[in-house]
Amino acid sequence: MAPYREGHNDGNQRQSSSPETMRTSIDRTAWQDIRLALVGEAPGRGLNLAHAAVTRHAFGPQGKRPALRWISKASGTRQWSVADLERDSNRFANLLVGLGLPPGQVVATLCERVPELYLTALGALKAGMVFSALYASYGPEPILHRLMASRAAALVTTRRQYAKVRDLRPQLAHLAHILVIDGVDDRKAGVQDLQPLLAEASEIFSIPDTDPESPALIHFTSGTTGMPKGVVHVHDAALHHLLTARQVLDLAASDVFWCTADPGWVTGVVYGMLAPLMAGATLIVDEAEFDARRWLQILSEQRVNVWYTSPSALRRLMTLPLSFFHQYDLKALRLAFSVGEPLHATVVDWGRDALGVPIRDTWWQTETGGIMIANGPHVAPRPGAMGSPVDGIQAAVLHRTGPGNGIAPCGPGQVGELAFSAGWPSMFRGLIGDGEHYRRRFVDSWYLSGDLARCDADGTFWFVGRVDDMIKTAGHLVSPFEVESVLLEYPDVYEAGVVGIPDNHLGQRVRAYISLHPGVAASEALRGRIMAFARQRLGSALAPREIVFTAAMPKNQAGKIVRRWLAEQS
Ligand code: AMP
Repeated sequence: MAPYREGHNDGNQRQSSSPETMRTSIDRTAWQDIRLALVGEAPGRGLNLAHAAVTRHAFGPQGKRPALRWISKASGTRQWSVADLERDSNRFANLLVGLGLPPGQVVATLCERVPELYLTALGALKAGMVFSALYASYGPEPILHRLMASRAAALVTTRRQYAKVRDLRPQLAHLAHILVIDGVDDRKAGVQDLQPLLAEASEIFSIPDTDPESPALIHFTSGTTGMPKGVVHVHDAALHHLLTARQVLDLAASDVFWCTADPGWVTGVVYGMLAPLMAGATLIVDEAEFDARRWLQILSEQRVNVWYTSPSALRRLMTLPLSFFHQYDLKALRLAFSVGEPLHATVVDWGRDALGVPIRDTWWQTETGGIMIANGPHVAPRPGAMGSPVDGIQAAVLHRTGPGNGIAPCGPGQVGELAFSAGWPSMFRGLIGDGEHYRRRFVDSWYLSGDLARCDADGTFWFVGRVDDMIKTAGHLVSPFEVESVLLEYPDVYEAGVVGIPDNHLGQRVRAYISLHPGVAASEALRGRIMAFARQRLGSALAPREIVFTAAMPKNQAGKIVRRWLAEQS
């Protein structure tokens, strides 16, 4: 795993050329307190994500607490106490060690949200291996790309998913072991039935001393703006997971928490598994895909206190009348959060009307490994704003001062690149196979996120767009997000994606793709009304010159609209 450390930047490599105003000061005390909470019981043994999530609570009365409640597609549920999770993940750790895999090897999963996925992750982390979950809806091509990039040595999968991998084997020489959850045995091809191996594995395992800087997780970005990249995180990320679970999600031991993200994305591993377990909450895992009725039943019947979901799921729920939501008892719901895409102001307020709580935006990305900016639990959310930085994180809006790559802070309200003082614990430590690209993401001691934002004088951050998505039209810089936000306020508009189309006179002209709510027919008259609405709200410089009605927006598998694909189809 050594190559992943090539680009390591711990925030101490400050360059003397940084202007004084740019000096960064990671709030070390916030992290020291949390480190003490995590390693206090086992000083000198390093820091291990699975120890922080499970082992540390597994003994004594805490061990009896419900840790994981899994809701199967068939709607039966199964529950693991912390002690059960400890025991079952020990079996997985012993099984992986028994295969002869040394620490540092990559263990991947390719399956739906079944218990074995979570137990593999915890078992691999306990054994010092690196965990990487692949999204079950991938076809053979993305599976091959990811297994080759991570050089996975073992894969835990299902019979149905294995059918996609079988023909890829000749290209995956490093993939020594495939363990099939629901039974295939073909030892000659290194394919084994998982269950008998598990039955033989001991339920006692002692986590070896774990260097907090050793690689623990590989996540692939959703590829919103380019080819998906393999991002490496280390065990020290536990500090950030626990801090944000407490400070942002407000989780405590009596809470029931549901994160709807799949572990194929970073959110599904960090907040769909590790962080809530660290905080001692009961984790809800639903095996099934989005279904409005099922989701509302889960929120109500499981008495979910804190919910974490995405704008795309919320948009789908918003197509239903408020009366639908009012059939369910959601009194237990205390907080609802969103991540992954801009959360438009209308959604924040819709939450209040439909669910009884506003939706709170959080911002982070695969590379940051945890929530960086949020509308925290104790203040009223600012509709349309990402919020303010979490404790221990220093965020800034910066602009590049010239071709020499210098950077300087933007003033209040000015648009620039969202950046973070490097060195927070869950910061990515490398991009697989691309040390140069990794290094380029840091300037002086700042990590540049690739997103554009502005910050008010009071420290509230507002999303503007991706650097790569900005449109330059007739000399104006236009944020697609700003235009989309206005279009979404028009009652007939369901989704909007705004791109720049090459134009001889304007450089680029603003084109909006719009999908309409079910039952609304596209017409020239409607196009004219939306155009007029946009012009009145945005002015002629920013308003779209063209509107194209489309039945569905192109989205990546994380459900995010990919503007690049819209532009390509133009
Ligand atoms: P990923 O590559 O899947 O990690 O996606 C990260 C990107 O999603 C960020 O760089 C943002 O562009 C976008 N994103 C995540 N959260 C938010 C948010 N709250 N508001 C706007 N964009 C977001």
